[in-house]
Amino acid sequence: MSASEQPNVARETATTTANAASDAKLSAVERYKRAKEARRTAPPQRLGDVPAFDTDTLWRGLTREGEVRVLLVRATHSAAESTQKLGCSADTARMIAELMTGAQLLRACLNPDEQVQLSASNDGAAGNFVVDVWAEGHMRATVREPGATGEGLIGQGTAQIARILRGRGTYRSAIGLGGDDVETLLMRYLLESEQILSYIKLDVAVDDSGAVHHAHGFLIQLMPEGTREHLARIVANLEDLPSGVGMSADDPDGMAWASQLMNGLYWDQAARQDVGFLCPCSPERVVALLSTLPRADIEELAADGSPLETTCDYCRVTYTVPQSQVQALLEVPS
Ligand SMILES: [Zn+2]
Repeated sequence: MSASEQPNVARETATTTANAASDAKLSAVERYKRAKEARRTAPPQRLGDVPAFDTDTLWRGLTREGEVRVLLVRATHSAAESTQKLGCSADTARMIAELMTGAQLLRACLNPDEQVQLSASNDGAAGNFVVDVWAEGHMRATVREPGATGEGLIGQGTAQIARILRGRGTYRSAIGLGGDDVETLLMRYLLESEQILSYIKLDVAVDDSGAVHHAHGFLIQLMPEGTREHLARIVANLEDLPSGVGMSADDPDGMAWASQLMNGLYWDQAARQDVGFLCPCSPERVVALLSTLPRADIEELAADGSPLETTCDYCRVTYTVPQSQVQALLEVPS
């Protein structure tokens, strides 16, 4: 807030107090106008109970009139757990960490209360991949060639984003992959498929052994309420953004980062969500998946006579399905 606005705040506060007793007599329109003004001039809101740096989190900030939104995420521990389970090389671990961090930003931007799946069919060295992010903040990932190294991990092909809406079906859209990095891919998707103008920055570091050191990111978005001036402000702030600023143990929410991004804008830190790695696979889900196979395939599995072993693509847990359960599937009339 500029210094010139301060007297207005004082005056508004005084007026509000003096008129409190007569508020009941005000018209609904007047009460609405006063509530709006009180909100406009209230001090900036910052969330308490900042989560420690060793947990993953996502928070969102918004300007007072909803013109600019900022999302910050830390997915370090989720990405470390996922890439370790997958046995990723350093290069593929970086790619998966970027995809997981970016997919969280994508969900928070597009589908905060529902599930997003980001997948790609492509001829890159790492092959096809899938990242799932759920409304509760859980995420998991898988990649065809976790040991791939070098350039060109993501190649030519198609990326697909599925917004999975509870009880309302799935909304899918696809864009061509043309050698973009993960940031560019996500920004291009938001612009081409969703007409959302945004800037995404992913800050991921992986050591030579493939261990994820950190996986942070932000998304800043011009909302429909935003003006040309807001856009110019965002662009100027991004141009001035110093390198080496991000989330740290001393500043786990990355408030210095956000303050730079939102410099000159009057904004609140509005909401927070815990995020973390979780694969919802289970013995029941494996059997349920088996039951969807064609009968001939189940007969083939049953004929083998030995217990069926299957490993989850995401968390690498191996499930053993006893023959009795495979046989039971054949007894269900199809
Ligand atoms: Zn699993």
